[in-house]
Amino acid sequence: MTEDRILNTAPSDNPCTTCGACCAHFRVSFYCGELTGGSGGIVPAELASQLNPVMACMKGTETGNGRCIALRGTLGSPDIRCSIYPQRPSPCRAFNSWLDDGQPNPDCQRLRAGIGLPPLTPRTVAEPQLLSD
Ligand code: SF4
Repeated sequence: MTEDRILNTAPSDNPCTTCGACCAHFRVSFYCGELTGGSGGIVPAELASQLNPVMACMKGTETGNGRCIALRGTLGSPDIRCSIYPQRPSPCRAFNSWLDDGQPNPDCQRLRAGIGLPPLTPRTVAEPQLLSD
């Protein structure tokens, strides 16, 4: 994501801080080298499942439509947050709520609707990205 998925501290206009739907929907898989335990990774290995010799995923997301073990709070509520935000894996960092042209990410629109949240509105590309850490 641009750094806008489930922040611990975030700009007040960040829709991720009251959503969390993506963290309870996708399989969050990534290269094993991102895990702690010898290869210099930062994602806590105890929170991940091994998928194959080179890939892992966040526990809870193995089959999709499961809640990530690191997610805290209630989906769609202000208390939703990632408990390992500074150590989250690359797919979480790569997911954007808006596309480069300012249109909302269609996945966000679909998943937000699924938990009863209103759709995101387009934003101008001149607006700064929502960054954290
Ligand atoms: S690690 Fe954090 S940002 Fe990534 S899916 Fe889990 S709760 Fe969401």
